[in-house]
Amino acid sequence: MERTLGRIADMCGGRLLRAADADKPIAGVVIDSRKLGERSLFVPLGGSNVDGHEFVAGALEAGAASLWQRGRAGAPEGALIEVDDVLEALQRLASAYLQESGAKVVGITGSNGKTTTKDMVYALLDTKLRVHKTQGNFNNHLGLPLTLLSMPEQTEVVVLEMGMSDLGEIALLARIAPPDVAIVTNIGESHLLNLGSRHNIARAKLEIAAGTKPGGLLICSGDEPLIPQVLEEIKADLPQDLRIFTFGADAASDDYPIGMKPEGGGMAFSARSEGEARFAIPVLGSHNVGNALAAMAAAREFGIDAERMKTGLANLRLTGMRIERLTGVSGLALFNDAYNASPTSARAAIDVLAGLQGFASRVLVLGDMLELGADERRYHREVGRYAADAGIDAVYAYGPLSADAAEGARENMAPDRVHAFTDKAAMIAHLRAHLKSEDAVLFKASRGMRLEEAVQALQSEP
Ligand code: ATP
Ligand code: MG
Repeated sequence: MERTLGRIADMCGGRLLRAADADKPIAGVVIDSRKLGERSLFVPLGGSNVDGHEFVAGALEAGAASLWQRGRAGAPEGALIEVDDVLEALQRLASAYLQESGAKVVGITGSNGKTTTKDMVYALLDTKLRVHKTQGNFNNHLGLPLTLLSMPEQTEVVVLEMGMSDLGEIALLARIAPPDVAIVTNIGESHLLNLGSRHNIARAKLEIAAGTKPGGLLICSGDEPLIPQVLEEIKADLPQDLRIFTFGADAASDDYPIGMKPEGGGMAFSARSEGEARFAIPVLGSHNVGNALAAMAAAREFGIDAERMKTGLANLRLTGMRIERLTGVSGLALFNDAYNASPTSARAAIDVLAGLQGFASRVLVLGDMLELGADERRYHREVGRYAADAGIDAVYAYGPLSADAAEGARENMAPDRVHAFTDKAAMIAHLRAHLKSEDAVLFKASRGMRLEEAVQALQSEP
């Protein structure tokens, strides 16, 4: 983003303290004082330990300009914009920049599959348009504005992941960047602890529908009955002429896969909406085909044809730890899906593992799924039972909650094929001793369990 400091003051609703700085050229926003350059605008956010304001004097000395919280004592002399609230000013600046750029917005929310779908939409649009996307998982009230501000001026479409952990958060993100096209990947159980019910989760996700531009397109899962229910409840808040397109498993949705099968380490499928054309994605799982259908619906809105869709999906680069296939010691096949977990995404991962062909044993390593609230034990038990019913050959459960998953698994599979651990090192040792090179092992757990450490351990000799 290149603007003069005077312009930036207007855009963020602040006041330039010295009129003489109005023409100072700025070429980007920085929140980490170690990354400042002469043409940076420093945004001093309050951290958990330190307040960014402590670094403002240093920023000015380095030749940068800075925001400054109104009413805060000790403002140094220099190129400062005074604002009511630093975070809000950043959000206003990002929103104004987006508007000036004229870029269209694809906003993506849902309990699972946001980052994956974002990467897919990007890959599809990138075949024809100048596209910018959220880096990694920068999907909140801070990451989203920073994504916008790092967008080149000529961007035609920006693809934004919109995350939330409570009601009102998606509404805020959609106010900063109102989507032309909104995607709701699914409704799961993530953040159940905060939100209390799946119904509330659906309400929180569907704030994106209310925030979509008039005449915009809402793409959502057709497999989730809560979605039409909540859309009916919030009918009065929906934008004028909102179009709704559903994707799902079968003909109950506007789009669904035909002839879907695992192929070459990924999935091959046709889509009802695209006729005979065959598509391939380099990642396993029918849930990822669902993500692809959602992404294709967004791409269609921007005039991407089937040929380009094929190319885009073939060139797809996914952010790591989403069923990432790795090779372990002596050729062992490791599937790292340990980025995060909820019951819905765990079942999706179990389906992938159960569907793998050509392995001696298919082994699930399941760590605790966190933040599920009062029913957490029941959820774990159900996922364990689901793994047993899917025909998984061995289950390793890691963590106190996963002990219930082990219990659930033992109900429907040979108990000696289910192992529960509370110590990661002990589990790794057991895996090392029992796995064979012809086995496939899939790792799934919430972020806080750091289960990727087990993946890394199995990639090399002890
Ligand atoms: P976060 O909320 O952590 O940002 P996310 O919504 O961005 O997550 P991804 O990072 O794309 O989701 O995927 C997270 C996990 O969910 C992965 O382990 C993936 O295998 C699984 N997953 C992806 N898409 C779906 C889906 N449509 N349904 C169920 N599980 C899914
Ligand atoms: Mg994500």
